[in-house]
Amino acid sequence: MRSAMLTLAAMLLSGTAFAAPPSHPQAEAQALELAKKAIALRSVVGPGNKTPQVAKLYSDALIQGGFKPSDVTITPYRDTAYLIARWPGSDPSLKPFVISGHMDVVEAKPSDWQRDPFTPIVENGYLFGRGATDMKLSGTIAIAALSELRRQGFKPHRTLIIEFSGDEETDMKTGAIIAEELSNADIVLNIDSGGGNLNEKTGQPEYFTWDGAEKTYSDFKLAVANPGGHSSQPRKDNAINLLAAALTRIGQYRFKPELNDLTRAYFTEAARYKGDPKIAAAMRAFAANPADKAAIETLAADPAMVGKIGTTCVATMISGGHAQNALPQHAEANINCRIFPGHKPADIMAELKKVAAEPALTISDVTGGSVATDASPMRPDFVAAVKKALAASYPGTPIIPAMASGASDSMWFRAKHVDSYGAASLFTKASEDFSHGLNERTPIADIGPSIDYYLSLIPDLTK
Ligand SMILES: [Zn+2]
Repeated sequence: MRSAMLTLAAMLLSGTAFAAPPSHPQAEAQALELAKKAIALRSVVGPGNKTPQVAKLYSDALIQGGFKPSDVTITPYRDTAYLIARWPGSDPSLKPFVISGHMDVVEAKPSDWQRDPFTPIVENGYLFGRGATDMKLSGTIAIAALSELRRQGFKPHRTLIIEFSGDEETDMKTGAIIAEELSNADIVLNIDSGGGNLNEKTGQPEYFTWDGAEKTYSDFKLAVANPGGHSSQPRKDNAINLLAAALTRIGQYRFKPELNDLTRAYFTEAARYKGDPKIAAAMRAFAANPADKAAIETLAADPAMVGKIGTTCVATMISGGHAQNALPQHAEANINCRIFPGHKPADIMAELKKVAAEPALTISDVTGGSVATDASPMRPDFVAAVKKALAASYPGTPIIPAMASGASDSMWFRAKHVDSYGAASLFTKASEDFSHGLNERTPIADIGPSIDYYLSLIPDLTK
């Protein structure tokens, strides 16, 4: 009864109606309360970083929910910390199942927000606050679902591990350490990635996306050095001009369009939900033939699509010269690339150097904290488990596999050849996705179905 009333209230408040009635009031209440406490802790990199306190909050909740204190470890790292909690399975010979998330959040300036970002508040059916979407609520829902599974007497067959990194939004060092420690995992469920879309008009679930690959993030520094001289005596090899010409050639270059199993499935499935029939037709045509010239032209012209058909590299920063009346001795630019899975950054760098076609130009990889990864396979056990979990939580919602534009902690696991999938449970309208932005919020009506989702998914992935 209480659950039904809560659901109705949530529906009325958010204008959202879900088909599946939430049925675990204790877990739902715990997820929301814990999320509020976590949001109030300003877990932002730098002085006063409260990530270690978030780790303590989560650790206490897990122990209260049945984890043995000796199975939960918090490891301090610089100004942050990471958390690893183990629920031993009945068969220790099986490789563990890992749930992966993070505790840190992106900086938020209170003066820019309508409400204080670190004072959680539920209003109009939404939980507001930094981390409401990315990803404190998502983390506390998983913790609450694990506690619910304990209450139900569930016992995992393979060992279940839940871990939270402490610097995913900045250096990503703790994610790398965790993946190293858990490199014997069978499968990783990343709850900081994937999720569902709500229809802009009706608020009804429209489709659900999970990702099994992400593009590799790379930064390359392009530089031209030159003896310079007096600006009244111009020389042909002006460093700024040479760099500008090279950048123009790179700007006009297109990397070879390509397709993998995930993106083929994405284009085929997602085409059904594209409002623009021309784009939808191009998505289908590209899925059938990645060399289709007309389809490539259409998709490449759409900023939301161009990154899905291949590697992209763009100029993002430029500097050069040292005086208004001197020939530049130095000019440099940063090229940011999002590399399609399966390519090494060194190969893309070599391709850029060739395209730049400027002998005086030097190019170097200045990427910090990123690693190239292949796509995880479309594993039938994972695909089936997600399908079943979604049927239990958001029945009838179409599922679309996808490739993320990167980067998440999944890359550290994929680099260790551990299959990793982003499949968080939260549904939002695209227009209300404010992760990393202002006035971040998530519908609290998501909590009930999310618990149902994990209560189905977690047991299936620990079989
Ligand atoms: Zn995140």
